[in-house]
Amino acid sequence: MAISRRTLLKSAAGVGVLGATGLAIKQSNAIKTNAHIAIVGGGAAGIGIANMLNRYLDGAKISVIEPRDYHWYQPGQTLLLAGSYSNKSDVVSPITRYIGSDINWIQDSVTELNPDSNSITTAKGSVVSYDYLIVSAGLELRYDLIEGLSTDDIGQDGIASIYYSPESGLSSFKQAHTFVEQPGRGNAVFTRPQGAMKCAGAPLKATNLVEYFAQQSPNRSQFNFQYYTSEAALFAVTDFDLKLKEIWEERAIYAYFEHVLTALDKQAKTATFTQQNGAIQKVDWDFIHVVPPMLPPQVIRESSLADQSKYKGYVEVNPLTLQHKRYANVFAMGDCVGTPIGKTAASVKSQLPVVTDNLCALLEGRSPTSQWSGYTSCPMILDVGHAMLWEFDYSMKPMTALPFQVVDPLAESALAWRMEETFLRPVYDVMLKGYTPI
Ligand SMILES: Cc1cc2nc3c(=O)[nH]c(=O)nc-3n(C[C@H](O)[C@H](O)[C@H](O)COP(=O)(O)OP(=O)(O)OC[C@H]3O[C@@H](n4cnc5c(N)ncnc54)[C@H](O)[C@@H]3O)c2cc1C
Repeated sequence: MAISRRTLLKSAAGVGVLGATGLAIKQSNAIKTNAHIAIVGGGAAGIGIANMLNRYLDGAKISVIEPRDYHWYQPGQTLLLAGSYSNKSDVVSPITRYIGSDINWIQDSVTELNPDSNSITTAKGSVVSYDYLIVSAGLELRYDLIEGLSTDDIGQDGIASIYYSPESGLSSFKQAHTFVEQPGRGNAVFTRPQGAMKCAGAPLKATNLVEYFAQQSPNRSQFNFQYYTSEAALFAVTDFDLKLKEIWEERAIYAYFEHVLTALDKQAKTATFTQQNGAIQKVDWDFIHVVPPMLPPQVIRESSLADQSKYKGYVEVNPLTLQHKRYANVFAMGDCVGTPIGKTAASVKSQLPVVTDNLCALLEGRSPTSQWSGYTSCPMILDVGHAMLWEFDYSMKPMTALPFQVVDPLAESALAWRMEETFLRPVYDVMLKGYTPI
């Protein structure tokens, strides 16, 4: 049975209504406990798990330590670049819209994680003791590792980066349009950093969108589109990688592999890339979209919760149960976990029931057996109106939550675009409320 766009939008509206009501209905089988659960970071994962646990537990104290008083819907950053969103308020909302009133929000930053004493220390000097800890502090953006680039440069003189902030999403849209509207200034460069990053599809989406803007101008042939990635492929899933390479060949977007952006000269408008063999290449740009290197936050990197080997600095978890490998009362979720894939909000959605179930198991004296599949989703935006709905898990094979007949992940689809533009936000909002119906 094919799902029509109308049906999809109707269900999106339904999901949105559920999110907007703010209803948090206790599960009838909620576990009675007076445990204190501390959650470090109140972003997508932290707020979602606080609200979900709140429904499944009766009597628990749940504290979220989060310095920001707002929530930033980061997946909306590509929609700011697309022009589908045009205001900061499209991606930023007061955090109190999502944090339930019975959750203890501590507006502070965690400066020390002390799992040996089951406590954390905050910037304001408080020591918070816990029975269970969930670490969900996201990633640090390290623009400072690119010599010559300051975050103040974003949104000026052809420099764009949708990663930095809501404002940078808006200014990247302006920079892209200034670029395509100026004939004779035609070199567009896009970068993808070394190492793990959140939404590894977003640098590709940014490239597709700006190239699409250039197609709308009468001068497409005057523009040169180049994508420099530190990786050996465009995307880690082979089927998706091959499909995008095919599309880029048609669209004349040229990819350069194993190139790491190490410096930017704003005056000369050159970017310096270092190749694996140490060779240096300088590339001229008129427009550049920079994606910075990303690391787990310092507080995690420097704690005894950090992995010291393969996923150095990330929280060392069992990749299936998301329980810490050495501290049984600690879990981690979201971008800061040491797993091979899964740094998306879609991954958070699929981690929520796993962590909830496993924490409930510990509270009831059972072993945590719920397993995360590594599920990740990345709607690969191709232009303003088309996308491919890419979903995969630890198997690194394409998979779909909806039947293939509805959304073929290798087909350029208006429906997949519509889902990205209209459907994902209400699903995300409901997730923050602690529900994962889809
Ligand atoms: C440009 C862009 C496009 C994206 N597109 C998509 C997409 O299409 N689909 C998708 O599924 N995902 C997408 N994502 C990824 C998605 O937004 C993240 O994977 C998701 O937000 C991860 O949730 P998180 O809670 O781990 O991290 P975050 O949501 O970043 O939250 C981390 C929180 O921890 C807090 N924190 C940090 N340090 C401390 C500390 N020391 N003490 C206390 N709190 C702290 C921060 O203030 C923050 O609120 C995109 C991201 C970006 C940037």
